[in-house]
Amino acid sequence: MAAYAVAMFADRMALARKAMAEHDIDALLLSVGADLPYFTGYEAMPLERLTMLVVPREGEATLVIPALEAPRVVPRDEVFTLRSWSETEDPIAIVAELLGSTERAAIGDQTWSRFTVDLLNASPRLWLSRASEITGPIRAVKSADEIGRLRQAASAVDLIASRLQAGEIDLVGRTEAEVSAELGRQILAEGHGRVNFAIVAAGENAASPHHHPGDRVIAPGEVVLCDFGGTWFGDDGVGYCSDITRCVWTGTPDPAFAELYDVLYTAQGEQVRSVASGVSAQEIDRIGRAVIADAGYGEYFVHRTGHGIGVEAHEDPYIVEGNEQPLEVGHAFSIEPGIYIAGRWGARLEDIVVVADTGVDALNVVDHHLAVLA
Ligand code: ZN
Ligand code: ZN
Ligand code: ZN
Repeated sequence: MAAYAVAMFADRMALARKAMAEHDIDALLLSVGADLPYFTGYEAMPLERLTMLVVPREGEATLVIPALEAPRVVPRDEVFTLRSWSETEDPIAIVAELLGSTERAAIGDQTWSRFTVDLLNASPRLWLSRASEITGPIRAVKSADEIGRLRQAASAVDLIASRLQAGEIDLVGRTEAEVSAELGRQILAEGHGRVNFAIVAAGENAASPHHHPGDRVIAPGEVVLCDFGGTWFGDDGVGYCSDITRCVWTGTPDPAFAELYDVLYTAQGEQVRSVASGVSAQEIDRIGRAVIADAGYGEYFVHRTGHGIGVEAHEDPYIVEGNEQPLEVGHAFSIEPGIYIAGRWGARLEDIVVVADTGVDALNVVDHHLAVLA
C-alpha cells in the first residue's frame, strides 16, 4: 500500500511537470486546498502559518511546513522533501530562496492572499498564474482507482438516500436543521471522514437551490429536497467526494408537483444516458434544458447542469453552456438539473456519473422517482 501510494503521487507529479513544461511554468506552488493532498497525501492546515509545496520543473519538490505540523506529514522521499520552519523563521523567505531566479510560477487558486502578496514582494521578478491551469485537467481525468473511491463514497450516500425514501429518517415534525444534522451523522457513520454539506429544504424553501437548513418544521403534504455529501478518505490521506440530491413528498404528492417532477426525471435521465466521450459538456446541459423548456419550465432551471467531482466537491469539468470541451473517458461529474418556483416549491435530481469507454458509468443508482412517504 505504502509503495503503491508513493508510485501514485510520483506519477501525478510527473504529469504536473509535463503540464508545467507545456505552459512554460518553472515552478508550481501549492498551499491550502485540494491540489496539495492530491499530489502529496498531505492537506495543509488553513492557518496563518504557511504550508507550501514548491515544485520546480526540474529537481526536487520541497514541502515548506510549520515545525509543529511536520509530525503529521507522511514522508514520501521519492515525491518531496520536508523543510520545516521554526516559529522565528520567515517561511516566505524560505520559499523565495527555493524559487531562486524562477520567473514564472503557478500558485494554488486557494492560497491566501497574504502569502501571495508577501511572496510577490519578496520576489519582485516573479510572475504568477493559477495552478488550476496545470492541475485542473490532470485532476479531472480519474484513474480506475479514483473511480473506485468515488463509487464507494457514492454507494454510502445512496444507502442514506434509500433510507430517506423508505421513510426510515423521520421528517414530519422535525426541523430542517435536525434532519440535516442526522444526514451529517449518517454520512460519517457510513464511512466518510468529513461532511461537506447536507441541504434539507422543505416546501417553499426547496425553491432556493442552496437553501441553508433552518428551524422551519417539516409538515405533512410537502416536498423535502435533500442534497448531501462528504469526503471519503483513503489510507493514503487523499479524500474523494460524494454528492447526491433526492426529493421526497410527505404524503400524497400534489398533482402539479408530480407533473413538475416527471419533467425533471425525464430531463435528468436523458442527460445521464447522453454521457459519452466526445460529447461536449455544454451538449449535456442543452439536452436537459430542452426537455425542461419544452414542458414550459425553462425559466425555472436557473443554474448549470453540473460540476466535476473528485478530491473537491466542485472541480473541472463544469457542465454548462459555453463549455465546448469534449467529455473524456475518466471525467467524473454531477448531473443535477432543477426546477424552482419561488414562493411555492422546487425540485432537483442529482447523480454523479463517470465517462466510460462504453458510455456512462452511473455511480448513484438509488431510485430516481419522487419518493412518496405515507
Ligand atoms: Zn450546489
Ligand atoms: Zn449536490
Ligand atoms: Zn452537486
